Amino acid sequence: MNNPNRLTKKEGVELFKKADLLELGRMADEIRKELHPEGIVTFIVDRNINYTNICINKCLFCAFWRNENDPEAYLLEKDDLLKKIEETVQLEGTQILLQGGLNPRLNIGYFINLLKEIKNRFDINIHGFSPPEIYYMADRSDLTIRETLQLLKDAGLDSIPGGGAEILSDRVREIISPRKIKSDKWLKVMEEAHRLGMKTTATMMFGSVENSEDIIEHLNAIRTLQDNTGGFTAFIPWSFQPGNTELAKSLNPPLPPFSKRWSGGITKLYPATAVEYLRVLAISRVYLDNINNIQASWVTQGLKLAQVALRFGANDFGSTMIEENVVASTGIHYRVSKEDIIKAIKNAGFRPAQRNTYYKIIRYF
Ligand code: SF4
Repeated sequence: MNNPNRLTKKEGVELFKKADLLELGRMADEIRKELHPEGIVTFIVDRNINYTNICINKCLFCAFWRNENDPEAYLLEKDDLLKKIEETVQLEGTQILLQGGLNPRLNIGYFINLLKEIKNRFDINIHGFSPPEIYYMADRSDLTIRETLQLLKDAGLDSIPGGGAEILSDRVREIISPRKIKSDKWLKVMEEAHRLGMKTTATMMFGSVENSEDIIEHLNAIRTLQDNTGGFTAFIPWSFQPGNTELAKSLNPPLPPFSKRWSGGITKLYPATAVEYLRVLAISRVYLDNINNIQASWVTQGLKLAQVALRFGANDFGSTMIEENVVASTGIHYRVSKEDIIKAIKNAGFRPAQRNTYYKIIRYF
C-alpha cells in the first residue's frame, strides 16, 4: 500500500485526540467519496443466529453469556436453528451470522456436522465463528488453527466475522475480558483464515476503559494485517453497551462533569455519546486506508445517527438483522425493517443497494 498520506501511529493519536469533529468528519467523508464515488450505500439481508449462550469466558462487558446450569442457558435445537435459516431464505436473506459462546459441551464434530447439514439444505453464505470460538475449538480438539479452519471451510464455512476483537490492546483485554484470547491470537486466526482464502470482517468495540492510544493500536494492528493478507472486507466499530454487564457494575465512582473519555481517563462507564461514536468512525475511515468498507452500526446507535455516519466515513449500513440477541441482552433494542433501512439511506441522500457477504451488489432500490 503506497499511500503518501498514510497516518503514522503518532499522527493517528494526535488527530484522534485533537482534531475538530467536523474537520475529522470532512476528511473521512472525502476518503469515502474517493473510494465510493457512485454514492451507493449497501446493506445485507441476514440473520444473527446465536447457537448457544453458555460461555466459559464470562467477559465483563458481555450481558449475553450464561453458566451451564443457569435457567436461561440454552443450546439451540438443530431443528430450531434450521427453521431460522429457512425463514431467512424466505425473506431473501443471503447470509447467516452464526456465533455463540464458548460452550464446553460442543466439539469440532458438532460444528462440522452442523455446517454440512446447513449447506446440504440451503444455498446461503455461512458467516460464522469469531476468532475466540475458533481458537477454543482448536484447543479442545488438539488441532492447529489452520487445521481447524480447513475442517470448517471444507464443511461449509464461508467467511468469518470479526467479533471478539473488542480492543486489540492486551492492557484493555485484561480488564474487560481477562479469559478471552489476547490480541496476537485474534490476529493469528484472522491471518490463517485469510491465507486459506477466506474473507473476514474486523470489528472494534470501544467506549469501555480504553484510551486514545489503545484505539490507534487497534486500528494499526488491523491495517498491518490487511497490508499482508488483504482479507478484511470491512471494518465495523461499535460502542460498548453497559446495560446488565459486570463491567458497568464494577466501576462506580461518579463521573466528573465534562469528563472526556479519551483525554483524562474515565472514572465511570457510560454509553458512548453520538459525538464519540462519530469521532471513532471518522478516525477509522482515515486510518484504515487499505480497507474498502466501513459499516455504520444502527444496532447500537439507531437509524438517525447511522444516517449521520454516512457523512463521517461509513458507506455500508450493515445488516437488516432479522434477529439479534447479543446487543439486545444489554437492554438496547433498535429494531428496523429492510424498508426502514432503504428509506433511511435514501433520505440521507444515497442510493441503497442490497449486497452479499463479499460486497457484490445484488440489487438496487
Ligand atoms: S463476549 Fe463472547 S466470549 Fe465473551 S462472554 Fe460474551 S459470548 Fe462469551
